[in-house]
Amino acid sequence: MQSFDYQKVFSLKDALDAASASKGTSVFMAGGTDLLVQIKEGKVRPRCVIDVKGIQEIDGLVVSKDEFSIGALTSIRTLERSPLASERVPLLAQAAAKLGSVQVRQRATIGGNLCNASPSAETAPALLALDAQATIHGKSGTRVIDLGEFFLGPGSTVLGDGEMLTGLKIPLNRSRQGCVYYKLSTRKAMDLALVGVAILLELNEDDRIRKARVALGAVAPTPIRVPSAEKLLECRAFSLEAARESAELAAQSCRPISDHRASAGYRREMVRELCQRGLLAAYGQAKGLTEDRNG
Ligand SMILES: Cc1cc2nc3c(=O)[nH]c(=O)nc-3n(C[C@H](O)[C@H](O)[C@H](O)COP(=O)(O)OP(=O)(O)OC[C@H]3O[C@@H](n4cnc5c(N)ncnc54)[C@H](O)[C@@H]3O)c2cc1C
Repeated sequence: MQSFDYQKVFSLKDALDAASASKGTSVFMAGGTDLLVQIKEGKVRPRCVIDVKGIQEIDGLVVSKDEFSIGALTSIRTLERSPLASERVPLLAQAAAKLGSVQVRQRATIGGNLCNASPSAETAPALLALDAQATIHGKSGTRVIDLGEFFLGPGSTVLGDGEMLTGLKIPLNRSRQGCVYYKLSTRKAMDLALVGVAILLELNEDDRIRKARVALGAVAPTPIRVPSAEKLLECRAFSLEAARESAELAAQSCRPISDHRASAGYRREMVRELCQRGLLAAYGQAKGLTEDRNG
């Protein structure tokens, strides 16, 4: 492993100062579960690693009447285990439980999962389906953007030099919702998703679909939402036929690659199958017919 300077900081201000002082030669380290592997493999060669894991002000969950806020340093294990997360944002809790192993989830943070910008980042489809917004701090100020604008490509985000993702905000809704996250992988644990599918449906009083969200991981250069598949479902009653059509649109909209883990054709087929299954499960939950949240 190449040598580098190591600096541990305990406040957001110190983190931004340290990044600014190093003029583009440093990287932030949260849990280190992606970063240390990349440094070992020589894919990243920082002069300085700024360890931000001890910054308390951006670690943890805060719930208000209409918003669920997550500090960027919140561990994946916290999201998996928190009764608050399971109750208010069950889709995210489900996705968190599928990342790596208990040991990895204990170290890994939600901010690191997003900033690493893998197309298969486990928490991304759930957050996209939940309409999450990302808060970004830099020396020149703070900005809040829709998470859908955050990813630019594999390993690439909108974060500028020295900028830090500090938190996520999810609008809360008390209406009848159903949601499901499916992860398809070769092994049951410690394997990245071949396909990740997050589905969320919200029903009106009259059972029409008020809001539909279809978000996918590992089948495009970035995690994506599929607006065409969502629009097809909204403002109408749920039907098996509509679920089939919506799943078909999702399968046609994604851009999977073929690699040693699966072919593009197989991934596309699985998007179709998992979306259809997910829509049925989410509708059943929203109607109060089923409790299928295991994915
Ligand atoms: C054995 C193993 C299994 C895994 N399985 C999965 C899996 O199933 N699904 C999955 O999605 N991932 C998996 N991962 C990858 C990894 O654990 C996750 O992506 C994790 O959430 C990364 O978080 P971290 O805090 O460790 O990030 P780090 O490694 O600390 O950082 C990752 C990147 O993000 C940057 N960064 C971190 N935090 C911030 C911030 N707040 N602001 C700006 N930049 C930041 C770092 O500079 C670095 O470039 C696995 C990893 C291992 C080692």
